[in-house]
Amino acid sequence: MESRLVLHAARDYNVRMSILPYAHKHVEKIHAYKPGKPISETARELHMRPDDIVKLASNENPLGASPVAVQAMQNTARDANLYPDGSSHVLRSKVAKHFKVGMGQVVAGNGSSELIEILCHTCLGPDTELVAARYSFTMYSLMCQLFGATFVEVENKPDWSHDLRAILRAVTSRTRLIFITNPTNPVGTMVQQAELDDFMAHVPEHVIVAFDEAYIHYADPQPDTLRYVQRGQNAVVMRTFSKAYGLAGVRAGVAITTEEIAELMNKARSPFNMNSLAQAAAVAALDDEQHLHSSVQLVRSEMKRYEQAFCRLGLSYIPSQGNFVLVKVGNGERVFNECLKRGVILRPMNGYGLHQYIRISVGTPEQNTRCLRVLAEALQA
Ligand SMILES: *Cc1c(COP(=O)(O)O)cnc(C)c1O
Repeated sequence: MESRLVLHAARDYNVRMSILPYAHKHVEKIHAYKPGKPISETARELHMRPDDIVKLASNENPLGASPVAVQAMQNTARDANLYPDGSSHVLRSKVAKHFKVGMGQVVAGNGSSELIEILCHTCLGPDTELVAARYSFTMYSLMCQLFGATFVEVENKPDWSHDLRAILRAVTSRTRLIFITNPTNPVGTMVQQAELDDFMAHVPEHVIVAFDEAYIHYADPQPDTLRYVQRGQNAVVMRTFSKAYGLAGVRAGVAITTEEIAELMNKARSPFNMNSLAQAAAVAALDDEQHLHSSVQLVRSEMKRYEQAFCRLGLSYIPSQGNFVLVKVGNGERVFNECLKRGVILRPMNGYGLHQYIRISVGTPEQNTRCLRVLAEALQA
């Protein structure tokens, strides 16, 4: 009976059949992640050459990838017919040495976004809660929608930093995960060691605390969160190769955690989650300390220039420990569009309800000079 029904429906191709009644309701309702506007799309729209467009919208490394990492990928490309090492052995052993942890404590992922998703696979579902700050990575609330869990959003403090006390108060028996983005995106503020220590001393055992440290290399000082892992607390430290290592297009990230959580995460991930080029690039990038150092130095010196320029333009900004800065421009959407018309892609913040702000990623000196000139024009327009 059923098979006849299917056959009949398939032949009657004038009838538009919707699968939606059979799909997960919570998936249908997801608001997809909105990335920075791509250069290629902007070039098409403006009839400009891609090379004439400056993108300072996704916190990418303007110095590019480490040449050593590029060479490693070229060497690996010849073996692209072979499956990658599903255990990412070389990368994980390198990361383990680097952070002085056991290899069984390292999970490798297709960017830290995937690691966030894998971690959510281990413990999120209906009737569970994830707690995070309002001004932190949007990926966490997206994951809650995907897993049918409740996203508990906690207001940031008046200085825009994470309110760890309020985050603790938001914890219930249903809380499974807390995400601390440090430094946090999109505002660039940080919580420091003493506050973190106090927080970790009070967080209940049934909760996993994940530290999303995508921008940690730019911060000074850099709090040590590995200590919580080493003490055996339910903590996960997430690092990405997308920012200071300049490998956003390759997709590489690592999580360092307890053996128990690492084992769960490894069960939850797909077998070949990290491709061979990404593994090779990440291994090589870890050795190129020079490139990392130059990338961080560039951001620190150019950030000072931005701050001085904002003062000159009479704009207030949020002091940032990342490679990006939030600046208050009045009508953010309008300024974003005016800059876009002039070939500079910035990031509007409407998604966060920060209508008066735009986020600028720190680029090369030339890119930043152009951005500041265009920003001044946009404000007058
Ligand atoms: C950019 C960013 C990441 C990195 O994501 P990948 O998937 O590794 O590219 C992670 N967390 C935050 C807060 C970020 O801004």
